Amino acid sequence: MKSLQDNGLEIWFLTGSQSLYGEETLAQVAQQSQEVVATLNAATNIPIKATWKPVLTTPESIKAICLEASSNPKCVGVIVWMHTFSPAKMWIAGLSALQVPILHLHTQANSALPWETIDMDFMNLNQAAHGDREHGHIQARLHLPRKIVAGHVSDATVSTRISHWMRAAIGWYTAQNLKVARFGDNMRFVAVTDGDKTSAQIALGMSIEAYGVNTLVDLVAAVEPSAVDALINEYEKLFDIAPEIAKGGPRHDSLRYQATIEIALERFLEAGNFGAFTTNFEDLGALKQLPGLAVQRLMSKGYGFGGEGDWKTSALLRIIKAMTEGLPGGTSFMEDYTYHFGPGEPKVLGAHMLEVCPTISTQRPRCEIHPLGIGGKDDPVRLVFNAEPAQGRVVGLMDLGDRFRIVSNDIEVVKPDKDLKSLPVACAVWKPAPTLATSAEAWIYAGGSHHTVLSTALDPEALADFAQIAQVEHLRISDSTTIDGFQKEIRWNGAFFKLSSLT
Ligand code: MN
Repeated sequence: MKSLQDNGLEIWFLTGSQSLYGEETLAQVAQQSQEVVATLNAATNIPIKATWKPVLTTPESIKAICLEASSNPKCVGVIVWMHTFSPAKMWIAGLSALQVPILHLHTQANSALPWETIDMDFMNLNQAAHGDREHGHIQARLHLPRKIVAGHVSDATVSTRISHWMRAAIGWYTAQNLKVARFGDNMRFVAVTDGDKTSAQIALGMSIEAYGVNTLVDLVAAVEPSAVDALINEYEKLFDIAPEIAKGGPRHDSLRYQATIEIALERFLEAGNFGAFTTNFEDLGALKQLPGLAVQRLMSKGYGFGGEGDWKTSALLRIIKAMTEGLPGGTSFMEDYTYHFGPGEPKVLGAHMLEVCPTISTQRPRCEIHPLGIGGKDDPVRLVFNAEPAQGRVVGLMDLGDRFRIVSNDIEVVKPDKDLKSLPVACAVWKPAPTLATSAEAWIYAGGSHHTVLSTALDPEALADFAQIAQVEHLRISDSTTIDGFQKEIRWNGAFFKLSSLT
């Protein structure tokens, strides 16, 4: 899957001023705003460079650049800064037309105040302290979903917070351009994995497209043996392959069959420009195995996936993988499977039938074959490993019928208390914040899904910024969560979203 960093994505940096200051002052504004951009771009943690644009001093130029930013396929967001005073009625037409995420950077060229030399010229040049307040007023009046970051751009906290928003903007860009391929429908009778695909496209942009599993069956049949040979050689370098399915082993054909599914699936996804997909064990047609290893491999290449036809989690996984590209840690499809209530600290054991992404582990995966109790197919080949201990979060996306909701829980992935010697699937063990009991109660009060995206790479601020851009409710279960407060948040949010949709 092509890296987003290679796509030449841009964030445009828009500086506001007005013509009253005269050319000399505006030249200084231009120079200093370019220095701000250069300082920001020198920060090591930002995922996309900011592109400086000429200083804006008229309603016409502001509207033109906002329209241009909205139509340029490389521009995924704008940062605005009022270096001086830029009367905000000039921005109404432009901001009303803006179709990409916006960050309002409240900064100034100088960090220190030149106490002993400050004069009126300096005051007139460096007046973002009130220029940005005038600008913020109009963003508030327009109800723009926005992020405001205040501080000097050389401050690592400032560039870090901007980087989180940039990653959220990448997530929004990804959602807006995402195509999800569904092989078969959702698992029969399951509620939370279902939803309104038209609403999802309206709210998030993504297109959810169904295919009969025979499409995949035909592609599997067309895979040439030499391609499978090459992929088996790759597996040998990456995994400890169980002798029974290794070359020369009695069940080697089972491994070759999963390799064939991986090749067929990847060809299909690439040809259709799909970023995510689903399968359903109830609808495998003539496929001989449930895709296991094949799905794990494709997730590790950046594709989103959801089991049992869960297109929302599949899309969310692709979005979060795009948001966290290049960061340490990993991101996987996950399911709360079973609990350890005690003795000792309570923990969740998360896994799935097969499909856990190896990016959340640093272990060399074992490639094994075991029976699968459901689906009625041949034993599927899968990778087995444990997730690497790290701070992280699980995230779910639900369709509430009239709107979407994101629920997240801060977690600490930990080592299993003892070796999971008999467990035939990859897994993650974690301690949810604030406690297992409060986390589980809050999640269930929120109607949270049993399928999630587990990420040890996603920062909570980036997720919150994404929800803000998407204007989707985000309920975060963290160390400060109480059931009393969480229930109130659900009720108050319910009222807010009902009222805010009455337009
Ligand atoms: Mn499941």
